[in-house]
Amino acid sequence: MKQTTEQVTPIKSIVTRAEALESDKTFYFTGKPCKRGHVAERYTNNACCVECMKAYQANPKTKAKKAEYNKSDAGKARRLRYDRSAKGKAIRRASDARFYQKHMLDEAVVYLMRMTCRDTGISWLKLGSTTHLYHRRSVLIDGQHTIDILHSMVPVEISARQLEAELHAVLPSSLVPPTVFSGFTECYADTPTQERLMLNTLAMYEVSLSELLKAA
Ligand SMILES: [Zn+2]
Repeated sequence: MKQTTEQVTPIKSIVTRAEALESDKTFYFTGKPCKRGHVAERYTNNACCVECMKAYQANPKTKAKKAEYNKSDAGKARRLRYDRSAKGKAIRRASDARFYQKHMLDEAVVYLMRMTCRDTGISWLKLGSTTHLYHRRSVLIDGQHTIDILHSMVPVEISARQLEAELHAVLPSSLVPPTVFSGFTECYADTPTQERLMLNTLAMYEVSLSELLKAA
C-alpha cells in the first residue's frame, strides 16, 4: 500500500479537550500546530502546548522566579498544602517505598533522628529502634514534620530493642514534644549539647558494646 507523506511520521491519535476532560486525562491532542508551530500534546487543564511549556520551564528567568516563589511564604504554604494533600501524600509514599526497597534493611537498627515541626519550626531528637528505618521515617513525616536521620547502627550481641532501652536509661532529660505525638518517651530536647551527647553515646556503644557487656 502506498503511503502518503502525512503517514510517514506516526501521528498520535486525536483526543479532543472535551474528551480528555471527560476521561480525566492530563493531555489531549488535536494534531494542529500551536502558535509556535509545535505539533504536540496540550495540557487539558490550561490548553498549553507541552513543547511551549517545556521551553518556558527551561528558561533561566522562569527558574529564578520559581526559586524565589518557593522561598516565599506563599510558596512554602503552597508546598505544605501539597504535602498534606492526598496526591502529595501518595507521591511521597511511592517515592519512600522505592527508597525503602532499595535500602531494605534486614536487621533491626537503633536510630537517632531530628524531627522538626513545619508549622512551629520546633524540633526534637528521637531515639528508637526499627527493622524498617526508611519506612519508619516515611510514616513519621506525615506532611507535618521534616526528618533527618542523624545516626543509625545495627547493634552487635544485643537486640536493637534492648540497646534502645539501655540508651534511654543512660541518656538524661527525655521530654514531651510540643506537638501531639505518640511514643514521647523516645524524644529529647534538640540542643547542640544534647545532640553531641547522644551521638557520642551511640558511637561509644557502637565501638565497645561487647566490652561493656563483658564488664557488666
Ligand atoms: Zn508550542
